[in-house]
Amino acid sequence: MKQSYNIKEIYKTIQGEGKYAGRMVVILRFANCNLSCPWCDTDYKGGERVSLAKIVGEVLRAYGARPPRESDYRKSRATVIATGGEPLLQLDKELTWELSQAGFNLHVETNGTIDRPMLPIEHLTVSPKPDTHLKITVGDELKLVWPQPGFKYRHLVEFEKLAFGRHSLQPMDDDNLEANIQECLDIIWIRPTWELSLQLHKMVGIK
Ligand code: SF4
Repeated sequence: MKQSYNIKEIYKTIQGEGKYAGRMVVILRFANCNLSCPWCDTDYKGGERVSLAKIVGEVLRAYGARPPRESDYRKSRATVIATGGEPLLQLDKELTWELSQAGFNLHVETNGTIDRPMLPIEHLTVSPKPDTHLKITVGDELKLVWPQPGFKYRHLVEFEKLAFGRHSLQPMDDDNLEANIQECLDIIWIRPTWELSLQLHKMVGIK
């Protein structure tokens, strides 16, 4: 059994992206990633070793209240988002079990290059990156940041065929954000499989 995990940060916020945009969540950001995307704006390096018990305690403290006891934790709206870096480098059954026992359901955001673990994940979002081998090709949500250096239109068409419950198209947040939003809209008008995903948390000025 793993005693500790390399954690970057734990905090409460609003899920800004995708299907659950607007929901209060606790972010559990794991340190380290197996990729190094040149445009990555996530601070995932470093981190510190944190015990399992302390992680659950910190998640509860960040949430600010005892999650309502549900007969089935999967129905709980108390949500932890495991992200990174790449959360699947570290997420295991002990941690997912303890979080579920504390009343949280678990959402995971991964780059999809690691096999899906047999864990009780309520919502799995895959965000593919160029020049990688996508190992998770089925899931709840595929989130494609667009435009993305290394991805051509044909890649978008290929991703569209994968069996995900939702296909989210998220404008790249760079100096060309306005043009990127327009480009995403132009795609959605003709390829309505895609749904626009905006980063709500940034719009309201929270982390
Ligand atoms: S996979 Fe995500 S966290 Fe990892 S380097 Fe790429 S953008 Fe950053």
